[in-house]
Amino acid sequence: MIPFSPPRIDDKVIAEVTAALKSGWITTGPRTKQFEKNITEYCGCITTVAVNSWTMGVQVLLNWWGIGEGDEVILPAYTYCASANVIVHSGAKPIMVDIAGKDFNIDVEAVKAAITPRTKAIIAVDISGFLADYDALNTLVREEAMINQFTPNNELQEKLGRILVISDAAHSFGATLNGKRAGSLTDISSFSFHAVKNLTTAEGGALCFNLPENFDHDEIYKEFCVKILHGQSKDALAKTQKGAWKYDVNEPGFKCNMTDLQAAIGLIELERYQENLDRRKQIFDAYTFAFEQEDWAIIPPYKTDTKESSYHLYLLRVDGATEQQRDEIIREIAEMDVAVNVHFQPLPLLTAYAKRGYRIENYPEAYAKYANEISLPVYYDLSDDNLKTVIETVKIAVAKVLS
Ligand SMILES: *Cc1c(COP(=O)(O)O)cnc(C)c1O
Repeated sequence: MIPFSPPRIDDKVIAEVTAALKSGWITTGPRTKQFEKNITEYCGCITTVAVNSWTMGVQVLLNWWGIGEGDEVILPAYTYCASANVIVHSGAKPIMVDIAGKDFNIDVEAVKAAITPRTKAIIAVDISGFLADYDALNTLVREEAMINQFTPNNELQEKLGRILVISDAAHSFGATLNGKRAGSLTDISSFSFHAVKNLTTAEGGALCFNLPENFDHDEIYKEFCVKILHGQSKDALAKTQKGAWKYDVNEPGFKCNMTDLQAAIGLIELERYQENLDRRKQIFDAYTFAFEQEDWAIIPPYKTDTKESSYHLYLLRVDGATEQQRDEIIREIAEMDVAVNVHFQPLPLLTAYAKRGYRIENYPEAYAKYANEISLPVYYDLSDDNLKTVIETVKIAVAKVLS
């Protein structure tokens, strides 16, 4: 079986994790701090806080920003459930909008139409590693009419004076817009380092901050380090100082810090990230070269004048295929021992969100793109032989089902 996206675990990763284990310090410590610094430098953001997942990073973020009952957060219907689950847990209402254009990203016109005085944040998602239209989104929240109807309900929101723009950058580590990397393109970005993502720490994530100049990012960093550790005034490392056992808790926090074992993997992954991106790009180009000659294939965009993808997922679409035919094609591919996937089922198709009243009929673009989409294997260790096999397998399966 050709797997879909196995992590790259080799002797280098094993050696660094082993070194962390042997150092005797396995929770948040020097490797996590180094990893945060390296991410800040790579992404070009102001500061970075490493956490144990994308999900908990954004959960803490929404809590910090004071988002809760009565508030609205806008997001696309076409995303992973995590993007919406965190909003539900914050107490706010997820306002889902459709996607538009040739890519799989949020429709900025639909965002504009969905904004109300209750809107506190927008979570745009960089589906497949191709960045959302941040030029348009960043401009939109700064429009006079948008600023005028913005209703802050705490000091932080007042200080910003407009809707907060959050990137769900779970897919887009290393992607660029106008030459600037993901993590530096909106107020705050959240990365995921889950095992299937481009850059992994087994499980993990990072918040990258890029707020306007009137925010003190050193203070924000300190505040988050406390918030992700129960609100404890001293972390485990600080408590190892002689006699420094005593701490206080000013407010109940969360528990979602990254460990040095995770950071050890991340340090190696980041050090050689460019070769990962280069290989992924080769795979994307090979898929495009092979499929663009097929009249049934809709090729995903991944490089334009302003944007370059992080090459996370290759979202091939089969023109004319119904949802049932797409599922059949995937069964045929699986029969030939190739693992493919679908990214994503629009959230209204999931019971949890259907039960909350979201209707797929209101998201025709999301449904249309989902219905005939197949995600193909992309990862550093995918060999040229296996790449050829994937291409042949997909062609055979499509021909069989659509003939
Ligand atoms: C993976 C993913 C997440 C969640 O990441 P975790 O680190 O598993 O919490 C969020 N959004 C998108 C789009 C994802 O693909």
